[in-house]
Amino acid sequence: MEMLKDSFGRRVAYLRLSVTDRCNYRCFYCMPEQGIKLEPHTHMLRTEEMVRLVRLFVELGVQKVRVTGGEPLVRRNLTGLVAELADLPGLDDLSLTTNGDQLVRFAGGLAEAGLQRVNISLDSLDPANFKEITRGGDLAHVLAGIERALEVGLAPVKLNMVVMAGINDGEIEAMVDYATARGCHLRFIETMPVGTSGAGTMELYYPAESILARVREHSGSDLEPLTGMRGGGPASYFRAGQGTVGVISAMSRHFCDDCNRVRLTAKGDLVLCLGREEAAPLGRLLRDGADDDELRQAIRDAIARKPQGHGFSAAGAHGAVPMSVTGG
Ligand code: SAM
Ligand code: SF4
Repeated sequence: MEMLKDSFGRRVAYLRLSVTDRCNYRCFYCMPEQGIKLEPHTHMLRTEEMVRLVRLFVELGVQKVRVTGGEPLVRRNLTGLVAELADLPGLDDLSLTTNGDQLVRFAGGLAEAGLQRVNISLDSLDPANFKEITRGGDLAHVLAGIERALEVGLAPVKLNMVVMAGINDGEIEAMVDYATARGCHLRFIETMPVGTSGAGTMELYYPAESILARVREHSGSDLEPLTGMRGGGPASYFRAGQGTVGVISAMSRHFCDDCNRVRLTAKGDLVLCLGREEAAPLGRLLRDGADDDELRQAIRDAIARKPQGHGFSAAGAHGAVPMSVTGG
């Protein structure tokens, strides 16, 4: 089987597929209140176009696909798209990242369609704080969505919390308790200088070491480091009840050294690094009539140009493409 390797010897086996740039939330660190400039619907890849591109990636050795957005659940007939992706031979791991707002409605159908697991973004357990962070989101919907995902077996359910100083850092302990009680896997994530409010976000930077110290203090001897998942460095993982707690530093160098992923936007641009603008216009090639061989070669050529690192710095180097376009 062919494998995709970049010029630094990193194997690319993971594709993040953004299925829409639209979102029903406006998390203040991700999108401006009025939203971002959206692509016209006609530029968005149709289901069969997306499936064709993903099939080519899988033929080239990609084993893991995560569906993301914008908010993937606002895309029409997402369940149909997921069913087709789930049928691709060679695709071992199919997951979804969602804000959870509409998960109650869709979780059962998605599980039936072949979705294996789900990551839900959850930045606060306080309804008022949640509403402020997401500019209008309803925490009750998301919590119900989490319960539904657990019920229908979209497991392991992972919860992602972007920790921000003075915004939600007071909720680290409550989040550990909430996740542990349900056997969810919890990931605390540092803010990244990406998106329209990137500069503001870095003022809210709360370092991974401080998160880790808080988690340790809270959990005491209950915290058993997980071997097999990398300890120290950019990510530390612990067993917590039936689940795990992890702390991830996107600003650490290892984040890039271990990078195994690329991102396909909803209009088919292949973004090679979260922090860089450089992209290969696979969607345009496809619509210009490229055949499968030409598309496969365009994918290989693009991966060979994958940059070594994101180049973010707390001092202000920013990602160029909004997270709601690259899918985070
Ligand atoms: N709408 C879905 C959601 O929120 O889960 C999927 C797309 S969203 C862009 C994916 C992830 O990116 C979310 O967990 C969000 O918290 C994260 N994200 C967005 N902007 C970020 C930033 N500046 N730093 C760190 N994470 C960010
Ligand atoms: Fe929407 Fe996700 Fe961005 Fe929040 S983080 S605005 S839910 S795309």
